[in-house]
Amino acid sequence: MKIGIFGGTFNPPHLGHLAAAEAAIAALGLDKLYIVPASVPPHKELPEGTPAPKHRLAMAAKLADALLLPEKVEVSSLELDREGKSYTADTLAALHAEYPGAELWLLMGTDMFLTLHRWREPEKILNLAGICAFGRTEQDGEEVFAPQREYLQKTYPRTRITTITLPGLVDVSSTRLRELLEQGEGAEYLHPSVYGYILMNGLYSTRADLKRLDIPELRACSYSMVLEKRVRHIRGTEEEAVRLARRWGADEDMARRAGILHDCTKYLSGEEHIAICEQYGVPLDDLERTAPKLLHSKTGACMARYIFGEPDEVYEAIFWHTTAKADMTTLEKILYVADYMEPNRTFEGVERLRELAYQDLDRALLLGVETTVQEMKDRNLPVHKNTLQAQAWLRDHGVTTEG
Ligand code: ATP
Repeated sequence: MKIGIFGGTFNPPHLGHLAAAEAAIAALGLDKLYIVPASVPPHKELPEGTPAPKHRLAMAAKLADALLLPEKVEVSSLELDREGKSYTADTLAALHAEYPGAELWLLMGTDMFLTLHRWREPEKILNLAGICAFGRTEQDGEEVFAPQREYLQKTYPRTRITTITLPGLVDVSSTRLRELLEQGEGAEYLHPSVYGYILMNGLYSTRADLKRLDIPELRACSYSMVLEKRVRHIRGTEEEAVRLARRWGADEDMARRAGILHDCTKYLSGEEHIAICEQYGVPLDDLERTAPKLLHSKTGACMARYIFGEPDEVYEAIFWHTTAKADMTTLEKILYVADYMEPNRTFEGVERLRELAYQDLDRALLLGVETTVQEMKDRNLPVHKNTLQAQAWLRDHGVTTEG
């Protein structure tokens, strides 16, 4: 088993870290990569305003989730949980004890590689792990690595060093990024979910007014609240909702914002959903209390209105996007249908729904509602009363899915 260890302060984790982790997983053929945020790095002071460990762990977890194979990546609190300075030799010893037969590889950029001989217990480090070094800038070529490689190999005979080239260099440091963030810049160096997390928690003096976010910022905040694998669907829903709004004369900006936020609470626990509904006075029936799928539309609507300052139209569209209801507005229908048939959806019958959505929105809505009713029946699950009311209302108004 090959295990990579990527230590750092990750204050904050940026696209340079992401590129390095991705390249190392591929180049070394790692089975697992541990990202290990340092508690107190031996070689540098944590600057004032450094977020609390829980935030650094959460940001590192967002970075881990953004990698191509997130199931191989784990964020470790080993160093944050340990008292005193975070010595790599101790971390490697702990991992070696946990995985005695594993081949350990320590990942590091040029700056770290060139100072490795001055770290505490370099011999122990080099005995326990191979070194995977990578350049951070265009200037970090073989001539930079070679002398240090030779020195380490000569001084510590068991040294194993692999130098890899990152396919896309990201010439940024966390230090520079912190300066940029304070000036309201730097988003281009961050994965959106990390950037969203920073904005939502007001880290690094960002002070964003969450009720006045522009579209890229709103996307980032929404993505920061979900797992990366859901982002494709959220993007698809946003695009589809905007296209449908254009087709049916609804407000495109509201359709976009509703699409961006509609699933932002998808991964909350049942208790968290219920707490939000209680906080904002959203009444829940018995079925809703036990079905998180039904709850996420209500809590997503609450986030949209109370955290992001969205207007009633957006609130309502998100509120009804799972169950639908009788007598819906055009925007509500659009979000419901867009969510159902956005380009990433693949279920049988989705093509017909896509066609109908641009010919007759009510018929598309009814088809979506009836597909849900049928699916619930097939799975022996109760159908929510609002869904049945939507179906009855549309039929009473002469809408049909026949023909
Ligand atoms: P700071 O500016 O606070 O020193 P940093 O950007 O160097 O931070 P660290 O968390 O200290 O980030 O770095 C963790 C590891 O990631 C180190 O091995 C470092 O060399 C590497 N690294 C940092 N930035 C990049 C980058 N842009 N490209 C590739 N590797 C990087």
